[in-house]
Amino acid sequence: MKIITHLINGEMTAGGNRTSAVFNPSTGNTIRQVEMADTTTVQNAITAAKAALPHWRNTPPVKRVQILFRFKQLIEQHEEQIISLISEEHGKTLEDSAGELKRGIENIDFAVGAPELLKGEYSRNVGPEIDSWSDFHAVGVVAGITPFNFPAMVPLWMYPLAIACGNTFILKPSERAPSSTLFIAQLLHQAGLPDGVLNVVNGDKEAVDCLLASPDVKAISFVGSTPIAEYIYSEGTRRGKRVQALGGAKNHAVIMPDADLNNAANALMGAAYGSCGERCMAISVAVCVGDQVADALIEKLKPQINGLKIGAGTNRGLDMGPLITKAHLEKVSDYVTDGLKSGAELVVDGRNLSVTGHENGFFIGGCLFDHVTPEMRIYREEIFGPVLCVVRVPSLEDAIALINAHEYGNGTCVFTNDGEVARLFANEIEVGMVGVNVPLPVPVSYHSFGGWKRSLFGDLHAYGPDGVRFYTRRKTVTQRWIKRERHEAAQFYFPSNH
Ligand code: NAD
Repeated sequence: MKIITHLINGEMTAGGNRTSAVFNPSTGNTIRQVEMADTTTVQNAITAAKAALPHWRNTPPVKRVQILFRFKQLIEQHEEQIISLISEEHGKTLEDSAGELKRGIENIDFAVGAPELLKGEYSRNVGPEIDSWSDFHAVGVVAGITPFNFPAMVPLWMYPLAIACGNTFILKPSERAPSSTLFIAQLLHQAGLPDGVLNVVNGDKEAVDCLLASPDVKAISFVGSTPIAEYIYSEGTRRGKRVQALGGAKNHAVIMPDADLNNAANALMGAAYGSCGERCMAISVAVCVGDQVADALIEKLKPQINGLKIGAGTNRGLDMGPLITKAHLEKVSDYVTDGLKSGAELVVDGRNLSVTGHENGFFIGGCLFDHVTPEMRIYREEIFGPVLCVVRVPSLEDAIALINAHEYGNGTCVFTNDGEVARLFANEIEVGMVGVNVPLPVPVSYHSFGGWKRSLFGDLHAYGPDGVRFYTRRKTVTQRWIKRERHEAAQFYFPSNH
């Protein structure tokens, strides 16, 4: 069985005595083993990144991004291979894998603008014969720690921009779906990236703790669940690092009485059940304003949920694949049982689904709960599976108050035909990414991605303009050239132009 190693200083390198099984969740079989980096292995990656830094950060940005242009072309040439690796290890459908890859590539498009993004600000004559400029310097060695659910896209949120800004990078991908991530990183080396600029260490907590402990790692971008995000943020900032840690979510969609219900129901189907609900922007709560809306919506959703085409992610033409692991399947099923116990009405029960020919796969069908209330665990907690909860409220104000009271604030949306409602919602809602008739309002690469409240720890969102700020430090230079023949006396007051 293939053992996946690490990419350090441009070479595939073994390291660490432990391995972790990588499954094909559609069959339940172990298909590979991945090595778990130990302290020495991570330290080797840090040493390589540190050694590559002086040359790389002084390489002209326009040269740095020429490598990224070639990288993008290579990814596009290898699209089929990449998406089949994603679907094989994650279980999402091939079409969904292609979507994530394309959204990842958009971040390379943004990063190739680095010469423009880094050119800074200049002011002539800020004082007598004094000019001043600010420009943006690399932070140094940066680490990225990424989740299983977007093995191509989330790493591409991070390292193309970080290295375009002159940093060197150590990526610690999810141990559950490592192959596509590693393959893409190898393509960047084929595109001409100097050794040590991007290193990939596979592993778990041991590797992450080593990155956190190293004084040579100056900044960490993390994407994953909220408890781990909180841990990385507190441990990283305690040690003086710059940290952005994006966490979990519970995303609400509000359905107003004037909404086009057919469109809203179709949009909810994709947003709640696409990728088997394993998206941080998945809609997991439908907040219906009025009982009539709730009853009508459920009637539209029921047949669609029962008709979901579910099967092995590596087949084409499906709606949904399996969950990532058996343990996660059990966890999601337990949530459904808990919802029933707490008094919610299970309108569609997707448990005990068996997919012919894939009886050992980690499959669950779509589930739909009605009459969910805010104190229930299925409402409060992130389930990360294909479970949609309907909550009934009497008014838009109640819907807004409900969402604002939730601890998470990643994404939300409203379905309405009323501009005043849309405007009020967008203004009052305490959530970082808002859609109006758009169920998955994932910002494009030239905006930035991030939630509010316990969905993000840190000041800056991921990628886009905030990403440039995160991966750079501002330096402001003030310079004066006095005419040679003139001599000035010492001044003891604080200089000003007034
Ligand atoms: P996870 O938190 O289990 O793992 C994320 C990363 O942290 C992985 O690389 C993992 O190896 C590492 N890790 C796990 N346990 C650790 C520990 N104890 N100490 C240090 N590192 C540890 O998340 P996941 O299950 O891979 O991904 C799903 C979660 O990610 C969901 O909560 C989802 O909402 C969230 N997510 C958030 C966003 C976002 O942008 N906000 C995007 C994608 C996924």
